[in-house]
Amino acid sequence: MQKQRIALVAHDNLKPILLSWVKENRQVLAGCELFATGTTGKLLQEHTGLDVICLLSGPYGGDQQIGAKISEGTIDILIFFWDPLSPVPHDADVKALLRMATLMNIPVANNQSTADCVLAMLQLDKPSHSGVLYQHPATHYSARFMLPQPAKTKYAQTEGKVKYKFSPARSVNPAH
Ligand code: PGA
Repeated sequence: MQKQRIALVAHDNLKPILLSWVKENRQVLAGCELFATGTTGKLLQEHTGLDVICLLSGPYGGDQQIGAKISEGTIDILIFFWDPLSPVPHDADVKALLRMATLMNIPVANNQSTADCVLAMLQLDKPSHSGVLYQHPATHYSARFMLPQPAKTKYAQTEGKVKYKFSPARSVNPAH
């Protein structure tokens, strides 16, 4: 079974959020092949001990490198916490990266709740479940998308918001 190849990128103000998300999901992410822009990757390596392939720093071409990998079909998922409140000098690169991810139709998470959903999809382990089997024509990435089953879904009240909790991880997506 091929490992999921995940690219992780966070702008400076969002790096602490990405780091805590990666720590929370360390077990699942340890079973994936991880790529990151330079500063993000070093931070993740130092604080989580995960193997991360570090590319160039984002403003120095790292975003473009990830975009190129997506276009080549060697990245399956993009987790990109870009900063909606602060401008960055390499905005053109950010836009190009997001464009390539959209064009290549890979799952993209730009915030923590979407990243949770994407990771939850990787943990579904029953190919016989009804659901939509998504298969990317160029990358052959495949995943079965479906809503969590009611019996397995727990709900927790957190600060006035209903939070969905998915079943614990059992294995990576078997459709691969
Ligand atoms: P960095 O790049 O991980 O090198 O900070 C992130 C970005 O700005 O794209």
